Amino acid sequence: MKKDTLITEVGRDPEKNFGVVNPPVHHASTILFPTMAELEEAYRTPFDGVRYGRRGTPITFALEEAVTALEGGYRGIAMPSGRSAISTALLAFLKSGGHLLMVDAAYEPTREFCENMLRGFGVEVTYYDPLIGSGIARLMQPNTKVVYVESPGSLTFEVQDLPAIAEAAHAAGAIVIADNTWAGSYYFRPLDHGADVAVLAGTKYIVGHSDVMLGLAVTTEETFLAVKQASHDLGTHVAPDDCYLALRGLRTLGVRMPRHEETALTLAGWLEQRPEVCRVIHPALPSTPGHEIWKRDFSGSSGLFSVLLNDYSREALAAMLDGMRLFSMGYSWGGFESLMIPVKPEETRTATRWATEGPMVRIHAGLEDPEDLIDDLEKGLARLSAA
Ligand SMILES: *Cc1c(COP(=O)(O)O)cnc(C)c1O
Repeated sequence: MKKDTLITEVGRDPEKNFGVVNPPVHHASTILFPTMAELEEAYRTPFDGVRYGRRGTPITFALEEAVTALEGGYRGIAMPSGRSAISTALLAFLKSGGHLLMVDAAYEPTREFCENMLRGFGVEVTYYDPLIGSGIARLMQPNTKVVYVESPGSLTFEVQDLPAIAEAAHAAGAIVIADNTWAGSYYFRPLDHGADVAVLAGTKYIVGHSDVMLGLAVTTEETFLAVKQASHDLGTHVAPDDCYLALRGLRTLGVRMPRHEETALTLAGWLEQRPEVCRVIHPALPSTPGHEIWKRDFSGSSGLFSVLLNDYSREALAAMLDGMRLFSMGYSWGGFESLMIPVKPEETRTATRWATEGPMVRIHAGLEDPEDLIDDLEKGLARLSAA
């Protein structure tokens, strides 16, 4: 099946559900077993089937199955947030004395987890240049257990050479975890390019409506048990109503993603021509580092990109942002609505230097009419240069 068909078909079975199109929600903690033999039999395979509420109900498994099919994985594990999927996957493979290679352009809370929890548990962490490619081999240590990739990078959108990084990591006995949130499980499949675990914030494009927190880790056959055991040990669980909403959001991913892509490219192209703009940072633009790799490995681009403005003051930037009508200010992204926030990548880098000439904003292109969005941007840029 092609991916757009898969999105509508996988994870539902109307014949088993009175002909109802969508899978039902079960609210459950206790699951009853009629006989001792059946109870014992069920717990011989504790990670399969309906055993106990925390271990998942049919709607959890339906969502996991659907996202796993899209990502081309063996099994997926639903988590309460993207951040929880990331932390759980890292904990699954890192023990005291182990070493992690973390990309310098990682989502900031991922860095926080490394600094707070992992270092506190005696894990060594080294940040590396997102554009390192096969050069990662030089950073591998005998105790390196995980190489973590986020492509494109948060805020700065460098596209990473995942196949080259995975080859070097595997040669040294480490596994690769890749954050696939930007591509929305739609335009990129990290597991096809050498990753051993894909982690993602379902909160963004899968949910797609800015109303549910959700994460997923999608694994290979070799990595499944470690991640599943870690999520079980940590007691993570996703509420059935949230799984239902995520699966409902997922059904329209195939129409939403191309629209986010098209509008983002329209806005990016328009912004590039503006005198107030220094540079537009979007993986589909040749000036963005890693663009050639994006062209080689990705089948499209999503709605999230950044704009580096010329040397305007904080007050000028505030005049622009405070008056936007359609671009709202707030964290997260991937919903139907457009967003714009100020970002400062230079404050978090340690392995590389992010030199900025002026303020930077991150834009999420929503599903509004692109002409209305451009009108809003035009007025915003006028406030910026007038301030
Ligand atoms: C938002 C985001 C996350 C975290 O997801 P939450 O569901 O907000 O915890 C992880 N990675 C990336 C790249 C993100 O943008």
